[in-house]
Amino acid sequence: METITSSNQAIELEDKYGAHNYHPLPVVLARGEGVFLWDVEGKRYFDFLSAYSAVNQGHCHPRIKEAMIEQIGTLTLTSRAFYNDMLGPFEKYITEYFGFDKVLPMNTGAEGVETAIKLARKWGYERKGVVENHAKIIVAENNFHGRTTTIISFSNDSNARKNFGPYTDGFIRIPYNDISALKQALKEDGVVAFLVEPIQGEAGVYVPDNNFIRLAKEACASENVLFIADEIQTGIARTGSLLAVCGNCTCEGPCERQDTYTKPDILILGKALSGGFYPVSAVLADNHIMEVIKPGQHGSTFGGNPLGAKVAMTALEVVRDEKLALNARKLGRMFRERMQMVVDKYRVAKLVRGKGLLNAVVINDTPESSTAWEICMKLAENGLLAKPTHGNIIRFAPPLVMTEEQLHECCDIIEGVFSQFEK
Ligand SMILES: *Cc1c(COP(=O)(O)O)cnc(C)c1O
Repeated sequence: METITSSNQAIELEDKYGAHNYHPLPVVLARGEGVFLWDVEGKRYFDFLSAYSAVNQGHCHPRIKEAMIEQIGTLTLTSRAFYNDMLGPFEKYITEYFGFDKVLPMNTGAEGVETAIKLARKWGYERKGVVENHAKIIVAENNFHGRTTTIISFSNDSNARKNFGPYTDGFIRIPYNDISALKQALKEDGVVAFLVEPIQGEAGVYVPDNNFIRLAKEACASENVLFIADEIQTGIARTGSLLAVCGNCTCEGPCERQDTYTKPDILILGKALSGGFYPVSAVLADNHIMEVIKPGQHGSTFGGNPLGAKVAMTALEVVRDEKLALNARKLGRMFRERMQMVVDKYRVAKLVRGKGLLNAVVINDTPESSTAWEICMKLAENGLLAKPTHGNIIRFAPPLVMTEEQLHECCDIIEGVFSQFEK
């Protein structure tokens, strides 16, 4: 193996030998701890992407690391041809944690979404009496649910879709945050589910109206349609509560069922479910839905393996024990307050929006401009890593273990960079 001694060397290798399916900032990371990352040259950065919210618990969390190392030396993978002694405890733990009867464990987020789609369709045919092969699932415009052929079939991002057809049928796309469009779509024949992100992360952190989630669930329920929440990015404390569908409930779970909580019929989790150590995703539902899946009808070689089960259980324990939802809520408010001052002061920053520690600043320039990219390059130079999305939006989502003092230091860095972009 070639030893990396400089960032340029690593970039050249990736450029030459790797498929060009990403456009990374030219920073080569070699180490992480908590809210920090270090590059090959030893420069330290605050991480404001958190691997798209997969490391809510902070990089290389010592408790998760210990649990993982212990399990690695004991048992890692047996397949589901046999039982294993970690899966049952994990299933009990995660279902009680989130308040569902059953869980179906997978690995990546996209697999979780695929699982939810299959589950909803099968439920539709077997429990709702939808005519075979005619099930429809309602989705939102500008959704991001992953990269499989079926999932990109109902995306409207041309970059994600174009020349990857033929596409999978059976999806209806409506505008996000639009209850009357949802009610209209629900009238169509064969609708089995509404699949939605409670806050659209990849689209640029779009927070819907306060009552959108509750009204959407009610509209679905009145038509016997499943409400599926994709909380792969918003869940597990990121938005200041255990789940974004918790509304303003501040309990650390299992949810105390405040009236702000909207229980999805199917909940999809991924990313921070393992604290960034290992791909673990999960689909949660109650018995009347989950029981439509029988042996041989769905599965995954790695899904539910003892290593993933142990890591996920520990990652969830950390979220609760360290009260990360509460910290995300508190720091999120501070961050938006500070960024609002930046927006008021500097024309280059147009607006700030978000919830908990999932926030975005919209740059006052076109999506085609390079301003947001240049700002992110300057932020990196000043020791803070963030990445533009859709050209002119910068997402700011640090690990949830950040302290108030660190957050203020980061806001100072961001403000300093914005000040340099005033023309
Ligand atoms: C990241 C993400 C996915 C896909 O997860 P992968 O692990 O990358 O397959 C799906 N839905 C949402 C909302 C996401 O943010």
